Formats: sequence, C-alpha cells, structure tokens
Amino acid sequence: MIRLTELRLPLDHDDAALRGAIISRLGIADSALRDFTIARRGYDARKRGRIVLVYSVDCTLDDEAALLARHENTPSIMPTPDTQYVLPKANPGALRPVVIGAGPCGVMAALILAQAGLRPIVIERGKIVRERTVDTFALWRRSELTPESNVQFGEGGAGTFSDGKLYSGVSDPRHLGRKVMEEFVKAGAPEEILYVSKPHIGTFRLVSMVEHIRAEIEALGGEYRFGVRVDGLVTAGEPRRLTGLVLSDGTTLETDHAILAVGHSARDTFEMLRQAGVPMQAKPFSIGVRIEHPQSLIDCARFGDQGGHPLLGAADYKLVHHASNGRAVYSFCMCPGGTVVAATSEPNQVVTNGMSQYSRAERNANAGIVVDVSPERDYPDDVLAGVAFQRHWERAAFVAGGGDYRAPAQRVEDFLAGRPSTTLGDVVPSYKPGVTPTDLSLCLPEFAVQAIREALPAFERKLKGFSMGDAVLTGVETRTSSPIRLPRTAEGQSPGLIGLFPAGEGAGYAGGILSAGIDGIRAAEWVIVANKTPEKTD
Ligand SMILES: Cc1cc2nc3c(=O)[nH]c(=O)nc-3n(C[C@H](O)[C@H](O)[C@H](O)COP(=O)(O)OP(=O)(O)OC[C@H]3O[C@@H](n4cnc5c(N)ncnc54)[C@H](O)[C@@H]3O)c2cc1C
Repeated sequence: MIRLTELRLPLDHDDAALRGAIISRLGIADSALRDFTIARRGYDARKRGRIVLVYSVDCTLDDEAALLARHENTPSIMPTPDTQYVLPKANPGALRPVVIGAGPCGVMAALILAQAGLRPIVIERGKIVRERTVDTFALWRRSELTPESNVQFGEGGAGTFSDGKLYSGVSDPRHLGRKVMEEFVKAGAPEEILYVSKPHIGTFRLVSMVEHIRAEIEALGGEYRFGVRVDGLVTAGEPRRLTGLVLSDGTTLETDHAILAVGHSARDTFEMLRQAGVPMQAKPFSIGVRIEHPQSLIDCARFGDQGGHPLLGAADYKLVHHASNGRAVYSFCMCPGGTVVAATSEPNQVVTNGMSQYSRAERNANAGIVVDVSPERDYPDDVLAGVAFQRHWERAAFVAGGGDYRAPAQRVEDFLAGRPSTTLGDVVPSYKPGVTPTDLSLCLPEFAVQAIREALPAFERKLKGFSMGDAVLTGVETRTSSPIRLPRTAEGQSPGLIGLFPAGEGAGYAGGILSAGIDGIRAAEWVIVANKTPEKTD
C-alpha cells in the first residue's frame, strides 16, 4: 500500500473529490486506484472562515513499486508504515502477575498479559463500572460521596467519566497508541478514533468499553477482584524482591510481579509505598479553576461562519500564557460541549474536572485554567508535601462552596475586579450538585490568582470573548497530574524493589487515557521479559 499525506480539500467536498485528489496527486488513471482508506483526517483552521480538511490516505494500486520509484523524491508519497503490534512471547511463571488498579494503564497491562497467556489478577479498590456509576451520580445529585467508589476510583479508572479525549504527546515509535486505539474500537469505541486528528469517545461509551475489555481478559483466563485495596507489600531477600501483596480484606496474595497502576489520587497508597521504602520523588503539577463559556462563543471564535459544521464538531482550544510572576498559565483538559464535574475522592473536599458525551452537545464549553506548581517553589518540605498542598486547597474550596460539596464559583468580571460574586449571569454553570457564588481567592494561592488574572485578558486576545464578564470560574482544579514520580529501572522495575513495576499516571509516566494505556502495554512487556529471566534468589 502507498500512503499519501497532505491532501487538502474544502470542508464541504463531495465523496468523489477525495478520490479525484488521490488520482491527480499520483498522476494515474482512475482505473489504477483499486481501493483506499483514510489513515488520518484533520483540519487546518489557521484561516478563520476558510477551514480546509487535511487527509492522509492508504491506497492499493496497480504496480505500487513503480509508482513509489516514480515519486521517490515526493515527501507526501511513501510506503504505508507497518503499525501492527506484535505481542511478545511469554513463559507463564509459577505465580500469576498482578495488576493493581483497573484504570486505562492497568486495563491495557492486564489485556496484554492475558493475550500473552499469563492470566493476570487485577486488584481494584473500587466497584465494577455500573455500580460505580451509581455512586458517582450520588455525589453529583445528592452530595453523597463514597470514598472508595467515585470519579477517581473504580473500574475504568479516572478517565471513565470524562470527555474521553485520546490525544497523547508521547513519542510512540512502536505504535503502541495504535494498539490501544484498536483495542478500544474492538471494545465498542467509534471506528473514527483510528483516523480523526482529535479523537474522543465520551463517557457513555467508555462505560460499556470497560466492560467489554473485562470480558476479554476474563475469557483469556484473567481475573478481577473488586472492592479490594492493596494495603501493603511483602518482600524478601537482599536486594529486596516482591513476594506478595497485603490486601484490605486481610488476605495476602502471593506474586513476584505486580504492576502498580494506582492513578494520581491514591494518596493512602502513596503513603503506604513511602513507608515500605519504595523510592519516590515529589514532582510538579498544576492548580487552578475550570472556566465555562457558551460553546457557540468558542465555535464562532475558532471557526467563524463554519462553526457547527459536523466534520469539525464542537470547537476546542489550547491556550498558554507566561505570567509576569514567573508562572505558566494554560488550558487543561478542555471539554467542548460538556459539563464540569465533582471529582473528589476524599470527604470534605471539592475538586473540579470536566467530562462530555460523544455528541459534545451540551450548552457550555469548559476547560481547566491552571498554573504550574513545583516542589522546589511550592511544597519543598517532604516527598508527599504535594499531596498536603492539594488537600489544603481542596478543603478550602469545600468551605468556600458552603460545606456541602457545592463548588465555589465566580463570574470572570468579578474575578478580574477582585470582588466576590453574589450572583451569576447568562452562563449557567453545569457543576453538580451546584455552585456557590463567592470569591475564588479564598481557595487559590495568591500567585495563582495573580497569574490567572493576567492570563484571562491575554487569552481574550487569542480567542474573542474568552474573558466575557459572565463566563463562570469554578474551583478548584488540583488533580492535573500526580504529585509524585516513582522512578523505575531500564527494565521497568522500582530500583528499590525487584518485581514492582510502577506505571501510568500515578507513577508519573502518563498524563491522560492514551498515554496511560501506552504505559500499561510497556509495563506488561517488562513483566513478560522479567518472567522469562528470573533473578537468582540466593
Ligand atoms: C473527570 C476526568 C476527566 C478526564 N478526562 C480525560 C480526557 O478526556 N482525556 C484524557 O486523556 N484523560 C482524561 N482524564 C485523565 C485520565 O483519566 C487519566 O490520565 C487516566 O485515567 C490515568 O490512568 P491510570 O490507569 O494511570 O490511573 P487511573 O485511571 O487513576 O486508575 C487507577 C486505578 O487504581 C485504583 N487504585 C488506586 N489505589 C489502589 C490500591 N491501593 N489498590 C487497588 N486499586 C487501587 C483506582 O481505584 C483506579 O481505578 C480525566 C480525568 C478525570 C478525573
């Protein structure tokens, strides 16, 4: 097959136009093009009102070798790359490998281990996804938090109630991201995620996809245990090796290989790991608020008259401002046509995040507007001081919201003027169980308030309407990534404990669903290799 890139067509082109563009680019007769599939479809919106679609296609042709030779010096014509994932060969050991956590990292790790014949055991502290959905909605509808079953904890992990954006900035020369996407499509994700430039799935489908993947893992001999937390590690020897896991039901599970994929909110597990002597480092993350605008305003600012076109979908944005106090302010986890959600996992705290359905049809666009924080500047005391920093501001947000899981909110005009909001305007906040108009400086560090005050007018210059007076800010966004990193060796293991494989977002190796899934594959491959080359025990 031959890949053609950079085929540019108007937004409203008809079906024949793409075929015509291929034939013209290759300089061939129509009959020579046997078939083609779209490898990628993006858009170029740099000229507002004149947006063009940009395609890459894979073509099956008569005499491909001669055509490639003829176009040898044309960078946009090349052989189609091989993106097939090759499963490593595995030798089952005496003990089954364990995956701790059933988020995207743990689930992809377990799937690879199961496909390799290693029959993994998945330990997940939360509930199966349908039961978890009921608990999550109880917080949103009735202000009832279940600390072990919520937006952060339970089958599917933190990304289950999300926009399901599947972008990753990670370098991926082995096409592991493609493997994640293909497994997602097999589990029910829309096929277009394999070729659109900004794929997303939405919450509704994510729930059933997680169930499908569980069914496949179980059919291959894997096993899930829900409602059980890993509370301790059993180790032996020098250098130390993992020999088992202490579970919250009082039992010990024997294993010599465990993938630790616990996400960024497993604060009690971080503490347990620290006490068990697992090496860890404090790392930067960000703090800020969610902002909500009418989606129509964002569509118009980004796409002009072409806003609302079905091939463009609801518009997104990505913004960065370097503030004069040395802080970077940036938009985070933008959710077009979505809602702001309550995302705490601990009692008496308020944490915001965003989600949407596949249709992205809700009235508001939302995004985190967050400011970078680092251990050196902001929480130097201790390796887990970042957790204490997050908790401090999450509790302040709980108090500012009224102490009943409503979130503190403020109109942009009031925030910029430094006065509390007493009422909200035209933009109706989507956060459930509700918001309290107030002063967000009560629950943000002063440097973050200053930096965001400076950033909003700067963002207005890039996106007309961004600092509209009635846009709503809701606080507080604290869980943008893990506050710690667990170092690992070239073989993917903790340098302090052979057999423990830290992975995913909680360990500091991922920042989203796709990158967590990719890291899960890597961790599974390391376990497969370690299984083949057992360490000497004497
Ligand atoms: C509301 C929301 C929206 C988001 N939207 C997007 C988006 O659109 N796109 C995107 O790419 N990313 C999004 N993210 C981020 C994304 O969800 C995470 O980056 C991703 O889930 C990280 O995957 P993970 O598997 O490393 O960890 P997690 O998904 O956090 O999974 C960790 C799992 O481990 C379990 N666990 C924790 N401790 C233990 C223990 N001791 N024993 C047993 N089990 C344990 C937890 O219950 C959890 O299920 C969103 C996050 C949230 C909260």
